[in-house]
Amino acid sequence: MDSLKALIREVPDFPKPGINFYDITTLLKDATGFKNVIDSLTELYRSTPIDVVLGIEARGFIIAPAVAYALGYGFIPVRKQKKLPAERARIEYQLEYGTDVLEIHKDAINPGQNVLIIDDVLATGGTAAAVAELVETLQGKVAGLGFILELDFLKGREKLGRHEVHSLVHY
Ligand code: AMP
Repeated sequence: MDSLKALIREVPDFPKPGINFYDITTLLKDATGFKNVIDSLTELYRSTPIDVVLGIEARGFIIAPAVAYALGYGFIPVRKQKKLPAERARIEYQLEYGTDVLEIHKDAINPGQNVLIIDDVLATGGTAAAVAELVETLQGKVAGLGFILELDFLKGREKLGRHEVHSLVHY
């Protein structure tokens, strides 16, 4: 997985001073790197019971549909507020400063369905925990949460304690 790390660009002080931003665009444009990421995430979940794969706007929309396709499942989007056209469930969650809102179509998940959540980065875990809660609000079951990279020092995993979490690389 060191080959993946070598393809992830670290940008200091973006989007604000003190934040080290892990930029996956350098990984995505590399054909071998991109294939490696999708194949590795797919392998992690090959024998997990899954009905559908969920991606979180915006960078989750790049990774999750590719994993869904490779595993042979459908894809459902979780979006920022006021983007989805039909009846929605919403969750407001805490950011470092202030709050944010994510939404999902109420009919995206049938009760009892196993939902695999895929995103690019697990940082504080606030986003992923909110999405897991949205899934459960619609009576779906979280089959697992998969990330390309995890910032271990932010302890996001602790917010997801009840669920199985996998990340391909750790910082
Ligand atoms: P969090 O809710 O703190 O786990 O992070 C929410 C989202 O922000 C993640 O899904 C990432 O897309 C993005 N993110 C947070 N911190 C970083 C970082 N240092 N580098 C790149 N993306 C980040």
